[in-house]
Amino acid sequence: MPVRQVGQDCYQWGNQKVYCGTDAKRKAILQGIAIENTGWKEAEEIDVTTPSFPFPLPNEFNETRDFYIHEGYLLISADSVGKYRIWDLDNGGFLGWNIISKGNPVKTEYEDKYSLTHPEVEQFDTLSDARTYAKWRADRRIKAVEDFFNPDSGHGYLSTMTAMALASPAKRGMLKMKMTNTEIRDGRHPNRGQDWIPNRIQKEWAKEISKKLPCPTCGKKVFVSLSAAERHHFYCEKYGSQPQNQLYFTPFEVVLIQEGITKRLPNTPKEAEMIHSSNILYLLGGVTLGILIPLFLDSRANKV
Ligand SMILES: [Zn+2]
Repeated sequence: MPVRQVGQDCYQWGNQKVYCGTDAKRKAILQGIAIENTGWKEAEEIDVTTPSFPFPLPNEFNETRDFYIHEGYLLISADSVGKYRIWDLDNGGFLGWNIISKGNPVKTEYEDKYSLTHPEVEQFDTLSDARTYAKWRADRRIKAVEDFFNPDSGHGYLSTMTAMALASPAKRGMLKMKMTNTEIRDGRHPNRGQDWIPNRIQKEWAKEISKKLPCPTCGKKVFVSLSAAERHHFYCEKYGSQPQNQLYFTPFEVVLIQEGITKRLPNTPKEAEMIHSSNILYLLGGVTLGILIPLFLDSRANKV
């Protein structure tokens, strides 16, 4: 559903709240994303100006087109020339289709047609291509993080490549600042790109993130990024659970939590993992199930 202008300097998503003045269009879009992502209908309750976890929206998107969320963190929409792009909300960057990895669903076709330069390498011809690719990347990331924690997974175990992929751009910047003068000099080698970070620091980071990802409340440890993990930690500690969409609670869920219908999770990670299963339905009594299921189906229908 597009955001439309409703008077001078005023914008609205669907039939929801009208925003006026500075940044009005952006707020209306963010509200649309929040609603599509969560299935929230009572939009007035979403304070898009001060979310617990704000996400930036890149200028490349054509703000009048539909936005889709895949797995709670990959935002898909059309750009100004009508091509589709995938924005990683947690890592703050567009996904390129050029990843060299087994099973890449578009690479062969795209590299015959397009160059590896920006923005072509980030553009998809159709929404369907973008969705297929987003799903492949999301599944691949989950597998990498599972391997990261699995001592039997060979090279995947505590892999520095996975660790670096889980770091936000800000975190990568902080890691670069840990480089010694010798390492900075080594980094100027022509074979090394601007983003080169010595193995020593990557290994330290892998160790650090292996401790930071697991949830102190419930023990869940497979997250698609450190940001996603921190978001989960926050909700899990505060409310004892996190809804399936991975981002926000719906107002209905907040009521259930306030009424004490959803219970805090037990403290031992083993028990918690069984009950948690990232599915709030397990936490609820039978009485509320009938009401909740349509709400979940509805919020899923709004997702990619
Ligand atoms: Zn948790």
